[in-house]
Amino acid sequence: MSPEISPHRRGEAPADPCGIAECPEPSARSVARSAAHQAFPAVADEAGRVNLCRTHYKVYKKSTRADRALARLGRY
Ligand SMILES: [Zn+2]
Repeated sequence: MSPEISPHRRGEAPADPCGIAECPEPSARSVARSAAHQAFPAVADEAGRVNLCRTHYKVYKKSTRADRALARLGRY
């Protein structure tokens, strides 16, 4: 019986870099690509998730606040 310690605890920032092109910041959150595409056209509108740094996450939240507020409660 080996103890399993998950490296991904909810609420903690992953170590991956920001998914926005040419952004040097470390990622703070990951969001759905289709949703990020609305805020950042450079992000491909496809399935999966993309990492965002704190700065880009703020921009993302501003542009998606209205329709993501309810969905977020169910996803996190
Ligand atoms: Zn960024």
